[in-house]
Amino acid sequence: MSALTYERASQDKKEQGKSVTDQRKLNLAEISRHAWRHAKSFWDNDRSASRHATKARPDFEKLMDRIRTGTDDVLVVWEISRRERDLAVYVQIRDLCHEVGLYFWLVGGQLFDLRDRNDRMFLGFQAVQAEFQADYIRDNVKRGIDGAAAAGRPHGRGTYGYERVYHSRTKAFLEQRPDEEVHTAVGKDGTGTTYTKAGIVREIYRKLAEGVPLIRIENDLNDRGVPASQGGGWRRGIIRHIALNPAYIGKRVLRGEVVGDGQWKPLVDEELYWAVRNMLENPDRITWKPARARYLLSYLVKCGVCGGPLSVNNINRHGWTGQVYSCLLRRCAAVKMEHLDEFVERIVVAWCARPETTEQLHRKFDDQGVAEARAEAERLRNDLEQWRTLAEAGEVTPVSFVRAEAGLIRKIAEAEQAAQEAGIPPVLRGLIGPHAEAEWLALGDDVARKREVIKEVLELKLLPVGKGTRTFGPHRVWRRWRLADDDAQAPDLIEAAAETVAAAVKAAKPGPKAKTTKTASNTAKPRTR
Ligand SMILES: [Zn+2]
Repeated sequence: MSALTYERASQDKKEQGKSVTDQRKLNLAEISRHAWRHAKSFWDNDRSASRHATKARPDFEKLMDRIRTGTDDVLVVWEISRRERDLAVYVQIRDLCHEVGLYFWLVGGQLFDLRDRNDRMFLGFQAVQAEFQADYIRDNVKRGIDGAAAAGRPHGRGTYGYERVYHSRTKAFLEQRPDEEVHTAVGKDGTGTTYTKAGIVREIYRKLAEGVPLIRIENDLNDRGVPASQGGGWRRGIIRHIALNPAYIGKRVLRGEVVGDGQWKPLVDEELYWAVRNMLENPDRITWKPARARYLLSYLVKCGVCGGPLSVNNINRHGWTGQVYSCLLRRCAAVKMEHLDEFVERIVVAWCARPETTEQLHRKFDDQGVAEARAEAERLRNDLEQWRTLAEAGEVTPVSFVRAEAGLIRKIAEAEQAAQEAGIPPVLRGLIGPHAEAEWLALGDDVARKREVIKEVLELKLLPVGKGTRTFGPHRVWRRWRLADDDAQAPDLIEAAAETVAAAVKAAKPGPKAKTTKTASNTAKPRTR
């Protein structure tokens, strides 16, 4: 008698079955007990033979091929549910065996003859029972996942940047917390750096919010030798996926839908998360692009006389060489570049740093409102998705689907708009607060970013030089703080900044009364040093 064995372990751990190795031992023991010849063994580990399995079952297929050769006499399995839980598969394999003359099945030590109708009935009964169990287990597993999601417990593969803590003895899940374990990475140039996975996630969000392109983040992580979340190198898609994952604001997601708050600490704050998400999903709405801006204020400050833009002119006149901003259209007004730059930078930084600004922005930009509007849009999108599914399945009429779709798309747009209007402008992120000056200095020669900040917070017009006062001062600059209410236009800052700039201007002047010459352009002609 030539005997085949087949062992299979299901992947769901809830089924308390024997391991493949254990089944193999038992099967081989049976073979020697009957003094058969062991021809070949097949096994599938971590595979499910049920109707719900999605993976290929290579050894199962090989077993079928082997049976087809008709060279064997008995098939040894430990239990029928371990071999095929699908009734159709059972019937298929049974008929195949019968056809090729493999009449004997040894199931769990009990021998069945496929030619015997009682034996066939008994095996069939076991197969029916096995299928019932498979369905039962699958439903339970699914219920378990849904239950875990509703209860805010994480499930499935771990989220990069978090670690899960299990009870050392019972292995019960205790918590999911930021993974702050320090790792060392060796960069392409051999430089060693340290990182934590939680830190990498925060870094990705921070950089995206600052407008760093995905490709630069990708290159930087790879250059540093930090392994990607799935191992290997980083790709833009992975980074994007991380940046869009609501798990990082502590939200539980099930099949793409936010189903509630998670039981874990957020890694990034909601404001930052939604800003980044908004940028990634609406690339055309990104307010600033990394342009090669050279001048801080050109085209950004308007002429206070004619409304035209200010452009930069190189001046070499009367012994003075330097650059001025001047009205591009009619030369109504001009000012030394360094004076206006310094004045504007000072008042902007002071505005960012003062506590009133933080307060005002919190009042104006309703973080909670943003989160709620976003959640509402998310919920509506999910509704729409469900309508689509129903429509595809033919469960709703095309007419009612089109109606529902139109309504939902409009509501989604409204919720998006509400969130957009309620959110703090991404370009200001990180700059507001007591550390504003340090952050501004850290921007260095990132003129493009600075311009965007200025553009976001301040509307500026250059006024022509007045009679008598040729010294640069706040009277030359008309200002409106775009994000402040009308009664909070921050005159205190202007005074403080103006004094500083005025002092600097004075210090640079050679004498109290430098001779000036009237010019055709009627500019505030820069003084000689
Ligand atoms: Zn003008």
